[in-house]
Amino acid sequence: MFQHLHLSACTLAIAALCLGAASQALAQSGLEIYWVDVEGGAATLVITPDREVILMDTGWPREDARDAERIRTAMTHADVDEIDYLLFSHFHTDHVGGLEALDARVPIRTIVDHGNSVERDTERGGRLWEQYLRLAGDRRRSIAPGDKLPFRGVEFTFVGAHRELIDSPERRAPNPRCAGVESPDPDMGENGHSLAYMISLGAFQFLNLGDMTPDREFDLACPENRLGVVDLWQVPHHGGYGAIRPELAGALEPTVAVINNGPRKGGTPDSLVVIQQTAEVGDVWQSHRAMMDDAAHNTDEPLTANLTEEDECRGHWIKATVAADGRSWTMTNGRTGYSRNYLSK
Ligand SMILES: [Zn+2]
Ligand SMILES: [Zn+2]
Repeated sequence: MFQHLHLSACTLAIAALCLGAASQALAQSGLEIYWVDVEGGAATLVITPDREVILMDTGWPREDARDAERIRTAMTHADVDEIDYLLFSHFHTDHVGGLEALDARVPIRTIVDHGNSVERDTERGGRLWEQYLRLAGDRRRSIAPGDKLPFRGVEFTFVGAHRELIDSPERRAPNPRCAGVESPDPDMGENGHSLAYMISLGAFQFLNLGDMTPDREFDLACPENRLGVVDLWQVPHHGGYGAIRPELAGALEPTVAVINNGPRKGGTPDSLVVIQQTAEVGDVWQSHRAMMDDAAHNTDEPLTANLTEEDECRGHWIKATVAADGRSWTMTNGRTGYSRNYLSK
């Protein structure tokens, strides 16, 4: 928004001055978030006001490097050419599989994870883990909840990792939705160990929980909500498999929930129903129409980035653009250009 004001104000000025105003506006722009469509995997790209680049997860491994190319396309659109922090939520193929192809195409400075894979003793998990260690090399570091990444203009805090959760007394609030609800069974696999983060710009807050499982969500929400309210929420585990807990969804009161599902992965009715029945959740944006669900269990078409099966899919993104002052933001559908404006809480 700020950028537009600047550019229109200088339409009558001479070209050199306009260029100066445009680059100044760029330096003062807010936060950008892209949900890159990696067909039911994950790849969420964040660009800070200082143009630092954070990517969480890299999609799937493929001969044609489809997911790395889609990430690169989003980076080109955002006018950035290297990744300062590559985060891995956890060590599953749909998240870490695209690392090799991406590493061959884009400079990656620091690689951040939740700690050692807890599935490295299985055949598949061990293979992924060995490949990850080899590729990450000395760029690798592991974090704990409460750790921050050092950016100017935004606050970037890890809220969960390796089953540990942030203890944030200043944000804690009682949560009446927990009364009488039993804690879900613990998930001791990689999903339950997912790394999760929150990023704030002024009043605006974005929460990304990776593939966190119902028990981790429940513990974030109950008996007290540790996270306060957020504006924008990437729901956990591709919005599938019972991953959206009503105790957390209600307590977070997200104005927008984003589901990074694929045509046949995630976005399952059991999770959609929770969102639909939670009055505090506002709009739902989806990476994909969930092909196995009926229209009642999909969001509206203008808020859906991709409508087809994987083979015909062009891989359109969803984008959030947050104003420099953090007071408002815009969600845009990369397929149609349709956008909707929101105010931060
Ligand atoms: Zn996943
Ligand atoms: Zn797609």
